[in-house]
Amino acid sequence: MDGESILHFDHKPHASPVPADERTALLANPGFGRVFTDHMVIARYSEGRGWHSASVEARAPISLDPAAAVFHYAQEIFEGLKAYRTADGGAAMFRPDANARRFKESAERMAMAPVPESLFLDAVCELVKVDRDWIPTAEGGSLYLRPFMIANEVFLGVKPSSEYLFMVIASSVGAYFKGGREAVQVWVSQDYTRAAPGGTGAAKCGGNYAASLLAQSEAIRHDCDQVVFLDAVERKWVEELGGMNVFFVFEDGSLQTPPLNGSILPGITRDSIMTLAREGGLTVREEPYSIDQWRQDAESGRLTEAFACGTAAVVTPIGELRYPNGSFTIGNGVSAGQTTKRLKTSLVDIQRGTAPDPHGWVYKVF
Ligand SMILES: *Cc1c(COP(=O)(O)O)cnc(C)c1O
Repeated sequence: MDGESILHFDHKPHASPVPADERTALLANPGFGRVFTDHMVIARYSEGRGWHSASVEARAPISLDPAAAVFHYAQEIFEGLKAYRTADGGAAMFRPDANARRFKESAERMAMAPVPESLFLDAVCELVKVDRDWIPTAEGGSLYLRPFMIANEVFLGVKPSSEYLFMVIASSVGAYFKGGREAVQVWVSQDYTRAAPGGTGAAKCGGNYAASLLAQSEAIRHDCDQVVFLDAVERKWVEELGGMNVFFVFEDGSLQTPPLNGSILPGITRDSIMTLAREGGLTVREEPYSIDQWRQDAESGRLTEAFACGTAAVVTPIGELRYPNGSFTIGNGVSAGQTTKRLKTSLVDIQRGTAPDPHGWVYKVF
């Protein structure tokens, strides 16, 4: 049951959108995830009826019954993608079809009604068009789109919900990580894991993030920006950061990233980086890498760079690893290495439309 192929969006423009001068002030320094646009997209699903009642309307609080399934059993998934201004005054998104596909896969894992890929794409495009004035023009700025879906059947029995709400909201964003240091310090979680074999690690669900927050607080207490999670079985293999995939760069110029083993989120940035690296003549291995090997290789100099990647921050060098009884640095510990820089630039240039796009990754909205 894929619902209707094409849904008509009912347009209910905001009666009192943010005035232009206020919006300009907000866009001057938006940070991440605090400045929201005027509108949102909303569509509903009911068993038997499929997807229906799609609209673009004023962004506002929504009303849910306290017995709505999401509050109790956490059937919730989300996506994250960005829209950029293009040189011709239009807007483009990066590989939104991949987000649409992943959203469907996440829904399947969480026993939720899949959103047809065409509905997903139409919904994000509708929002980018109506809120086009919220796309920052400043360097590094973009409109971060957050599609998500929640279970809203009013029922306390444990079963997949028969009703869902699919929504898209948008946030004007600047650079993701604040502060002067370019490279991040990362905490190795010893006590907590993010995802286990057979679990939901490969699905983009809020529950995975809930499970990661205590480790994240521990990281902050140890003056780290992020957590690196190890596998849940042997507590030995590097999996990923709380919300970013991880890459290692070696002195022979090769690249390595942990394989998608079911407990790692299949990042679209990860996939794009692998493609660009291979095209650039680098060897890329998808092979397990242990935390002990990471330390040894960093200390011996065999490992020259490490970086994390994801839509929000794109590519972030990892400068230092900390754990309860020690720490070690990678590279100079503060800035991005040559390969990290080069890969980041090739990716960002394609995203921004300043480099050719041989893979058709850039999706023009208008
Ligand atoms: C979203 C996400 C990523 C990065 O995926 P991108 O598609 O590159 O943005 C990595 N890890 C986790 C846990 C995520 O939720």
